Amino acid sequence: MYLRVSDISKYLGCPRAIEPMLRDSSMAGGYSGLDESIRGETEALKIGNAAHKVVQYVLDNPPEEREKVYEEVRNALDSIKQDVEMPSLISDILGENFLHGAIHDQLLMSSWKECHYLLYCSISLLRYLEKIPDSEGKWEIKAEMKIHGEDVSSKGVYLKDIFGSKTLLHGSIDLVLEYEDYFVVAELKTGAFAEWKKKTWELQTKIYSDACKFLYPDKKIAGFILHKYLTYGYNDVDGDSHWADSLDDSTKTIPGEHCQYCDQKLSCNASWFKQISSIR
Ligand code: SF4
Repeated sequence: MYLRVSDISKYLGCPRAIEPMLRDSSMAGGYSGLDESIRGETEALKIGNAAHKVVQYVLDNPPEEREKVYEEVRNALDSIKQDVEMPSLISDILGENFLHGAIHDQLLMSSWKECHYLLYCSISLLRYLEKIPDSEGKWEIKAEMKIHGEDVSSKGVYLKDIFGSKTLLHGSIDLVLEYEDYFVVAELKTGAFAEWKKKTWELQTKIYSDACKFLYPDKKIAGFILHKYLTYGYNDVDGDSHWADSLDDSTKTIPGEHCQYCDQKLSCNASWFKQISSIR
C-alpha cells in the first residue's frame, strides 16, 4: 500500500481522513507525479499550474543562463500588465491553448499576477541561498523530483510506519536546489493565503524533507515554502522525522478548516465544517 504526500498534508495529518486514501501499490503505475493541488481545470488550479510552469521554465536553465532567462520572462510577464495580450514567450511556456475557453482578460491578468509573484518568490529564495559562500551561480535546480520510483531507485525506499504497516510514500517535490552537500526542498504555493493552509504546506514540506533525509543521508537538508504573502516570498520549515507518529489509529481525528475538503465532513462528529455550519 502507498499514500500520496498531498493526501496526508491536505487533511493536516488527520488519521480518520487519511486512512481511506491508502492506495494499492499495484495501481501506482498511472500516477503522473503531479500534485493533486495543481491538477484540474478550474481557473485557480489552471493559474497555479501556469505559475509552476513559468518558475520551472526559468529555474530549469543552467546557472550561467538563468539570470538572462529570468529577465526575459519577467519582461514578458510585465508586458501582459500593460498590453493585456499574451506574449509569445509565455505562450510557448504555457501552451497555445492556455487561454482557450476562458474569459481572456480575466485569466490573463490573474495569471500574470500569480506567475509574477511566484517567480519573484523563487528568485528571492535562490538569492538567499546564494549567500552561502562561493555558491552564487552554482545551484543546480530540479523540478518535480519524485521521492519514489525511478528518481530515487538506487537510494532505497522511503517507508513510514502508518496504521501498523510499513507504508510507501509517493509524491513530487516542486523544486530541489542543490549545491555541494546542501539540499533544499521548496514547495511552490499560489492562491489566497490562510494560516490553516500554511500549516498544510508546512506538513507537506516536512514530509518531503524527511524523505530526502532518508534518501540522501549525507546531505544537509532544508525545507522552504514559497508564497507571495510570506515575508521575502518564502519561509523555512523545520524538519520533523516524527510526522507519522500520530498515524497509528485510524479512528483519531484532527479537525480544522481543512475539514471543508474532507469527504467525511458531514458524517464525522469532530468535523470543524459541521460545527461551523450548525452555528451559521
Ligand atoms: S471531517 Fe475533519 S476531523 Fe473529520 S475526518 Fe475529515 S478531516 Fe478529520
